[in-house]
Amino acid sequence: MINPKISRQVEYRSFKDNPGECPGCGGSDLVNEYQTYSVATRKGKKISDSFVISGDFGWFCASCPTIVINKDEVGKMLGYGKSNWNIGSEFTVLGIADLDAIPANKRDLPIGDPNNPLPLIEFTEFSKAKKTPKSDVISKDDHEEQNLDVLQNIEFAIVSAYRRNRDLTDHNVDMALETLVKLYRGRKAFPPQNLLTLEVYEAAQGMCDWRLGETVLEDESDLPADLPLEQVSRDIIVACLNRLRKSVRTWTKQGGRQGYLNYIDQFLP
Ligand SMILES: [Zn+2]
Repeated sequence: MINPKISRQVEYRSFKDNPGECPGCGGSDLVNEYQTYSVATRKGKKISDSFVISGDFGWFCASCPTIVINKDEVGKMLGYGKSNWNIGSEFTVLGIADLDAIPANKRDLPIGDPNNPLPLIEFTEFSKAKKTPKSDVISKDDHEEQNLDVLQNIEFAIVSAYRRNRDLTDHNVDMALETLVKLYRGRKAFPPQNLLTLEVYEAAQGMCDWRLGETVLEDESDLPADLPLEQVSRDIIVACLNRLRKSVRTWTKQGGRQGYLNYIDQFLP
């Protein structure tokens, strides 16, 4: 028996009949089951949507928390052509949509309505979930990988500000990040005058200080689901802030004045 309602690490594979061995434990207990999933898609760089689909493209390991997704099957369901679409840049299966968890009094509301958020049992990416042994030599890639959780924390603070106030623009975010870079470099930095910029500045600053170990967050509801505990240095915070600024520029170019905000709004829980 498998329990589909636990958080699993996900691997995408191309196969015909059987997925083969479990990438998590090497066992051969992968059980095919019909389930309902939340899937986010984009075509090229353009965000399409996230939505709920049901299908039998998931194989659940009976021995460990792993799921193997038949990416060809999902691709077919999404109507992608066979050639050159690639997982991650084209679609991501975010997790199991736990429709049973929707309270009875909300079942008449559309799923995803602000008053009826989709209960999601999230998957984690396999490569990121795997722990690599610590070594004295850390490559640049490993380094960036390690900071991924910090990036996500800050993005989470930014998207929370956006969800509280939809007037926020990418420009506000960029101004806030620019000021925070100055602050964490130890330069003179004044809190932004613009109230929208100030809101995202304060949210992101709270998250940065928390990762620096300099503060305790008061509002637990603003915390990301899976809490990292490792403290980081100011250099790492500054590197992450600069990387986010680059991301803001990229997505503004793609999607206009709220291109970045809409992008992270799609992909963060
Ligand atoms: Zn397994």
